[in-house]
Amino acid sequence: MTFATLGLIEPLLRSLEKLGYQTPTPVQAQAIPAVLAGRDLMAAAQTGTGKTAGFALPLLQLLAMEGPKVTANSARALILVPTRELAEQVHEAVRQYAENLPLRTYAVYGGVSINPQMMKLRSGVDLLVATPGRLLDLFRQNALKFNQLQTLVLDEADRMLDLGFSEELANIYRALPKKRQTLLFSATFSDDIRLLAGQMLNDPLTVEVSPRNVAANTVKQWIVTVDKKRKPELFVHLMRKGKWKQVLVFAKTRNGVDALVEKLQGLGINADGIHGDKPQATRQRALDRFKASEVQILVATDVAARGLDIEDLPMVVNFDLPIVAEDYIHRIGRTGRAGSTGEAISLVCADEVNLLSAIEMLTRQTLKRQNEPDFEPEHRVPDTDASGQVVKKPKKPKKPKASGGGGGKRNLGRWVDSGEVAPAEPSIKPVRKVPVFNTGPRKRKP
Ligand code: AMP
Repeated sequence: MTFATLGLIEPLLRSLEKLGYQTPTPVQAQAIPAVLAGRDLMAAAQTGTGKTAGFALPLLQLLAMEGPKVTANSARALILVPTRELAEQVHEAVRQYAENLPLRTYAVYGGVSINPQMMKLRSGVDLLVATPGRLLDLFRQNALKFNQLQTLVLDEADRMLDLGFSEELANIYRALPKKRQTLLFSATFSDDIRLLAGQMLNDPLTVEVSPRNVAANTVKQWIVTVDKKRKPELFVHLMRKGKWKQVLVFAKTRNGVDALVEKLQGLGINADGIHGDKPQATRQRALDRFKASEVQILVATDVAARGLDIEDLPMVVNFDLPIVAEDYIHRIGRTGRAGSTGEAISLVCADEVNLLSAIEMLTRQTLKRQNEPDFEPEHRVPDTDASGQVVKKPKKPKKPKASGGGGGKRNLGRWVDSGEVAPAEPSIKPVRKVPVFNTGPRKRKP
């Protein structure tokens, strides 16, 4: 199969040739003809499968082939993405694909001045990439109208809900024309997303190119168990031992990112960090330097987990396990992309056992444990497996109780003492609000 047989026009084929894309990926093979035929789409694809081209190529073709010229302060197609980084990245891909087409494309996101964006929108754009918050700001300030909008793409839709964009999505949805094509892309499909799809899509074609919630098999995954306080030391040890060249490291919190970066820099290691508290320009600079191999270790919160496409990234380290198991798939999807192989290592401490169990259950695999001599944890991480079980450890003989003491139990997080086992929880998830879309008359705040 070739891109030509999927029905793409010559200017797009020329761009693809220049980019070195020879064969459509499975998600492209299914999505491109369906989008060209005007269908709504609900597509589940692993990260790194080429889904951006899967929606952007047919969208650009439809825009080039049909429809009126875009008027002032309007957009004909809208791609919503959860983060600023992803907005930049998707727009960059769109720009490359559209190189030989007479189309105007642009990206808007928060964290930067709104005025240049308002100026740019004055003459209208054919295809706009946007994060939900900034898009609504522009709409409310009358810098953008949706009357010409014919296609809406929700990229990383599950992530948008995780990040709390459900209200913004509902508001945007209310402002859009009812007659339009909608494409919903997501690396993973939770029940919330299926509900959202039911509300937004019209007789959608379901595209599922890989089994649900399975991590890329080009990524070698393993865990090292360790006590929480020794994680930084273990990380440096593994890095030196494995002579790691470039590593993307995920930490749970912004403070965690800063603390690790500071520690690494203190040891003379070339490290930088990105998280939501840093200004957009600083984040972008750190990312650009990492991509250019000027930074060896980039430590990030999950803000960086989605969509970042870094060529030949060999290694991802989960310094902390993600709270939402699905984020594990997104994180490790930063390596092993477009057919190359990668490694993903997770440093797991005792109080993360339920997170580990949820990840194994979601990805239907028991992660291989490789313990590091001298780093064996004092607080043992109970055995887990893909069934979601936290496996019971044989009871140690108890020491006789000291009289009048406060009980012999040490609380090690969610599981209590050596013999007791915490109930396996399928996943620890923040509560997500799913928008309920109002299909009645449109109401807009003044
Ligand atoms: P995505 O999943 O859209 O983030 O794409 C992952 C990477 O695969 C990007 O670097 C794309 O440029 C690349 N890519 C997408 N489609 C193809 C293709 N058909 N052939 C080769 N590389 C591709």
